[in-house]
Amino acid sequence: MNYYSTNHKAADATLEQAVVNGLAEDRGLYMPYEIKKLPQAFFDNIDKMSFQEIAYNVASAFFGEDVDLDALQDIVYDTLAFDCPINKVEEDIYSLELFHGPTLAFKDVGARFMARLLQYFIKKQSGLNTPPVGEKEGVNVLVATSGDTGSAVANGFLGVDGIHVYVLYPKGKVSKIQESQFTTLGQNITAVEIDGVFDDCQALVKSAFMDKDLNEHMKLTSANSINVARFLPQAFYYFYAYAQLKKIGKEKDFVICVPSGNFGNICAALFGHQMGLPVKRFIAANNANDIFYNYLQTGKYEPKASVQTIANAMDVGDPSNFARIYELYKGDHSQITSLISGATYTNEQIAETMKQCFAETGYTLDPHGACGYRALKEQLQPGEHAVFAETAHPAKFKETVESIIGAEVAIPERLAEFMKGTKQSIECSKNFADFKAFLMAE
Ligand SMILES: *Cc1c(COP(=O)(O)O)cnc(C)c1O
Repeated sequence: MNYYSTNHKAADATLEQAVVNGLAEDRGLYMPYEIKKLPQAFFDNIDKMSFQEIAYNVASAFFGEDVDLDALQDIVYDTLAFDCPINKVEEDIYSLELFHGPTLAFKDVGARFMARLLQYFIKKQSGLNTPPVGEKEGVNVLVATSGDTGSAVANGFLGVDGIHVYVLYPKGKVSKIQESQFTTLGQNITAVEIDGVFDDCQALVKSAFMDKDLNEHMKLTSANSINVARFLPQAFYYFYAYAQLKKIGKEKDFVICVPSGNFGNICAALFGHQMGLPVKRFIAANNANDIFYNYLQTGKYEPKASVQTIANAMDVGDPSNFARIYELYKGDHSQITSLISGATYTNEQIAETMKQCFAETGYTLDPHGACGYRALKEQLQPGEHAVFAETAHPAKFKETVESIIGAEVAIPERLAEFMKGTKQSIECSKNFADFKAFLMAE
């Protein structure tokens, strides 16, 4: 199936090109020409299927034309070798815990899926053509992170032949746990510690994609949710959630609430809806970065500088996947607002919500999930059944969560393991000339 750019000025791409390029030449995001509906029989039987089986059905509809089905099945089964539990927090409100992957982030699924898919395409190509002399072999993934994306991408791509990952992160601005998750791995993962803030890291990555010399020297791609292979697999979660509610007879008037930053995760859920997933409506929960919320109210999309919050993975002032959502509904504001509502919360409201939920239900929310839970508490209508995505393990934000709920949050074994490793990183200034010189010498 072919992909077009949301800016409508670039040539169409195959899935392989869309994954390898990340972004279209006109800086637009790739969209598939067609979103296939899944057959009714699939939804009738979904409650009897495993997470892997459900995901394989969904993946086949997206990628089945372009990837060998046996290979696709291996990729899906390898990606989803973990559980995704659903917890009843209170009447008709369920937490869908997306954080049981290798780095305890929901981004693990997309990162691992993308790594395996890229590897599949590279293998298919090798033998067909050898890289020109003087060019660095394989694909190089550049990723700027304020914490969570770096760990998911680094671990998803760890040990994958033919791919090298460069994680750019702001020196001293990510938590020790997060830093250990991408600086202790070695192998094909290089951590680059930038003397600057997150925006500097992101600017370096953007400049690298636009630099002619660098692109001639090495094949560069992005593993942020602009990449179709990174964001689409997140749709698996929402089919699985529906299956779990169907199992207990609560699938009617199904509402999905997603704490959102760059809007990749909710966009994947909306793709699921286009494929026939029976969802009544969606809620996008924001922290104080309220650009999408304001768009819903006014019909105007006005990006602005992000503000720092305690739900920092959602501190985004110009959500990239807005372009995909807009495209999905052909820019029809009333169609968008009839399907999606919004919410925006201050740090104080987030903290108050975490505290109240823990005291009343015993459930520990992380600051991101707290936005989702609160939006449901405020907006759920009688008769509706809802899940909110709990996007990170609360231990990832240990100090913040403990000081708010007044109880200890245990660090899971898997997270503790990372902290035993030795930090390896390359220091670099925030000047593009320095970063470019480093990559040209690679
Ligand atoms: C990335 C992230 C989000 C936001 O997801 P988007 O796809 O960018 O909207 C929310 N919570 C956590 C914990 C995240 O890591």
